Amino acid sequence: MHELSIAKEIIAIVTAETEKKRLGRVETIHLRIGALSGVDPEALSFGFEAATLDTPLEGTRLVIEPVPVRATCRACGREFAVEDLVFLCPGCRSVDVDVTQGQEMQIDHLVVE
Ligand SMILES: [Zn+2]
Repeated sequence: MHELSIAKEIIAIVTAETEKKRLGRVETIHLRIGALSGVDPEALSFGFEAATLDTPLEGTRLVIEPVPVRATCRACGREFAVEDLVFLCPGCRSVDVDVTQGQEMQIDHLVVE
């Protein structure tokens, strides 16, 4: 299960960070997840909850901010939001586009008690 390994990775990063900076209890972890990252937020929350049982992060909430897909047209340079995975420039109808946003899966910030 893909999401469970991501959850374990998040736990490892957050645990290392809180130990290094001697932080208190982590209340929430804010994540940014792109629509193209292939991560299912619900499965990730579930995996996180399961993986944090009996650890210092038990009870910590995941707050997932979805990141919409954006792209830049290589033909005319226009930047646009990609709706429903239609990679078509609304300006010149070109399909030669660069995806600039929506593939990320990152920890944005932590909220510590
Ligand atoms: Zn264009």
